[in-house]
Amino acid sequence: MMGGTFDPIHHGHLVAASEVQALYDLDEVVFVPTGEPWQKDSTTVSPAEHRYLMTVIATASNPRFSVSRVDIDRDGPTYTIDTLRDLAALNPDAELFFITGADALAKILTWRDADELWELAHFIGVTRPGYVLSEAGLPADKVSLQEIPAMAISSTDCRARTARGEPVWYLVPDGVVQHINKYHLYTPDQQPTGILR
Ligand code: ATP
Ligand code: MG
Repeated sequence: MMGGTFDPIHHGHLVAASEVQALYDLDEVVFVPTGEPWQKDSTTVSPAEHRYLMTVIATASNPRFSVSRVDIDRDGPTYTIDTLRDLAALNPDAELFFITGADALAKILTWRDADELWELAHFIGVTRPGYVLSEAGLPADKVSLQEIPAMAISSTDCRARTARGEPVWYLVPDGVVQHINKYHLYTPDQQPTGILR
């Protein structure tokens, strides 16, 4: 599983997931868009349905990729422990791997119920360009670090580019560019359009 805000999903996320899938021979990668991100300012995050749809569009062509609604359908802020418990309950026989960026992994000890996290999944921290991770304090048998091909792409940059009227072609999948334009996401002075319920 790969959790994220996915606002929007971009090729950095997709390359990381693809790389880890191949290296660890994973059957499937389930992308899990967050509900209400408690570590981010909720007022600046796009509606969950837009983030969910962009994630579906971006992953549709890969038979090993799918998208879960467990976090966006759960009320309240998203905690990774709840995500893991839900996916473990839905897939009782599966061995779970949690793929996350090195930045998020570094915050892992601040997560709620951190000790129980190690029981539920193996954690794979993907290093992104320019990020140095200290492994100190993380259980070595439960956490792996994986370098992935350099992809200096972030959702923050994609939003800023769109706001400035600059293209995001080739940073995000084509269908995601079209979704952003169609619903006026990340455009100053415009609320996202579209009834998505
Ligand atoms: P934002 O800029 O809004 O924080 P983001 O690009 O970091 O967005 P998230 O949805 O926060 O995207 O990311 C989900 C996960 O993917 C995080 O664990 C993050 O570290 C990781 N990630 C994001 N961008 C990359 C990238 N270019 N390469 C590898 N991992 C990435
Ligand atoms: Mg981020």
